[in-house]
Amino acid sequence: MGTLLQGAGGAAGLALGPVYQWQRVAATVDPPNEPPDVALARFHAAQRAAASRLRALAERQRAAGLREADLFDAQALLVEDDTLTDGVTALVLEGQPLTAAIQAVVAQMQSLLAELDDEYLRERAADMAAVGVELLRALAGDQAPPPIPPGAIVVADDLTPAETVDLPHYVAGFATAGGGPTGHTIILARARGVPAVVGLGDEILRVADGTSLLIDGNAATVLVDPDQDALLAAQERMAALRAARQRQAALRDLPGRLRDGRPVALWANIGRPAEARLAREYGAEGIGLFRTEFLFLDRAAPPNEDEQYAAYRAVLAELPNCPIVIRTLDVGGDKPLPYLPLAPEANPFLGVRGLRLSMQRPDLFQTQLRALLRAAVHGDIWIMLPMVTTPADLAWARAQMQEAAAALAAGGVDHRPDPPLGVMIETPAAAVLADQLARDAAFFSIGSNDLAQYTLAVDRGHPVLAVRYHADDPAVWRMMELAARAAQQAGIPIGICGELGGDPNAAPALVGLGLDELSMAPASIPAIKERLAQLTWAEAQAAAARCLVTEPPAPSP
Ligand code: PEP
Ligand code: MG
Repeated sequence: MGTLLQGAGGAAGLALGPVYQWQRVAATVDPPNEPPDVALARFHAAQRAAASRLRALAERQRAAGLREADLFDAQALLVEDDTLTDGVTALVLEGQPLTAAIQAVVAQMQSLLAELDDEYLRERAADMAAVGVELLRALAGDQAPPPIPPGAIVVADDLTPAETVDLPHYVAGFATAGGGPTGHTIILARARGVPAVVGLGDEILRVADGTSLLIDGNAATVLVDPDQDALLAAQERMAALRAARQRQAALRDLPGRLRDGRPVALWANIGRPAEARLAREYGAEGIGLFRTEFLFLDRAAPPNEDEQYAAYRAVLAELPNCPIVIRTLDVGGDKPLPYLPLAPEANPFLGVRGLRLSMQRPDLFQTQLRALLRAAVHGDIWIMLPMVTTPADLAWARAQMQEAAAALAAGGVDHRPDPPLGVMIETPAAAVLADQLARDAAFFSIGSNDLAQYTLAVDRGHPVLAVRYHADDPAVWRMMELAARAAQQAGIPIGICGELGGDPNAAPALVGLGLDELSMAPASIPAIKERLAQLTWAEAQAAAARCLVTEPPAPSP
């Protein structure tokens, strides 16, 4: 049956093809006794070339509507980073050959970053390694790599993000010895829709060129030299996947609805304006959650009003005439911002998060509201509040919105004073008091990711308690039902924007609760649309009724 290798992470899909053992272009050998000024001139030219290649890759990603574009911009900055430049310059002036100097400084910066407590900075260590690869590649003069045979499965020790996006579109997939489930390489493979497995260990590097390899990105496995039965089974699954994709593509421009015609709006969750294009391509009828955090992360100061206004208008421009739900800043102790010092908290998830942070920093909130009210003149913007627990939270935010509108009016600035102001139902308090919240909320959207963690009292990222974290636990369903009933009684729309909204197994019951809208990752829309088109309203209601009474699974001890 062949040898099965288990990887650490995968990008969904099946691929079958001959192995192509990919090799990075070898670093150049430095000329002996190169004078330091000549070596440094080569270094600066390589920096410029690497930065411009990375910026060009960023542009390409951006044009394709992929959020990973920013990663390449960040790497382009690192290529020209002062610490790197000064370190290499010092070593070259001491007489080290240029290539060795670059390798030494990159390794040193990488190990400094890898030791830090902060997860975000630790991830930058991988970026630093990629930057080293890019610099050596530029020094080697960007030689064309040997051609990869069409339909091959690329096998490599590791691939940097730039090398990943540079793989020709005709490769069937790739498999690497290194890499982890949340690394940029696999994230890029998912974004490109290429089946891939990373973290397979060195055994994969010993597979001979041309050997047949079957990648199962969903299971994060590869099968080396599959036998006839395995091949047949894989070919059947691939044919079924292709057929499903074709069926679903045919539904792309149809609105979401059940078999008996009941409409269910299918909207997309996005984290960057560029992803709005992807949402449109997958047939989204609106944006159900625009996480505005991206505007605030990875920078030294908060974004100003005009920057935010431009970002909101960019989303409106991609999806004209569609509802765009924009969530106000949702960061806090669990996602700190460098320019926003917060007192350390023992329980950040129960601390100054979401709207609570806005209450501590009304200046930031006012800037965001002003940008939103100005952008709302140009499209159907709905403003959504995160981490609401009481009607007083909503009342405070409404007063803030009125204050922002009054200030804009006083300054003669064009704006819409009263876009729909709604709340996320992501705390048990909001679900239980949904009837009171519904008196003043224009809409509800269930944040099942947080609602599950607070209802079940399990940290949503807890490595050991993951077996207890089920967004489809009956306790969570009952919370969602409370919110759905309250919304229906008050006559306001209710949707969901947590991960559960894009789960084909949960979608029937969510619709059965009476939700008007499901919002999800853009790529999940086609399968959900197809699932709903097969479902009647009576079946959806029966599915909801079952979810409310099913006994929760027993967690293992
Ligand atoms: C949620 O909690 O379900 C949600 C959509 O918000 P986030 O995942 O950004 O916390
Ligand atoms: Mg949340």
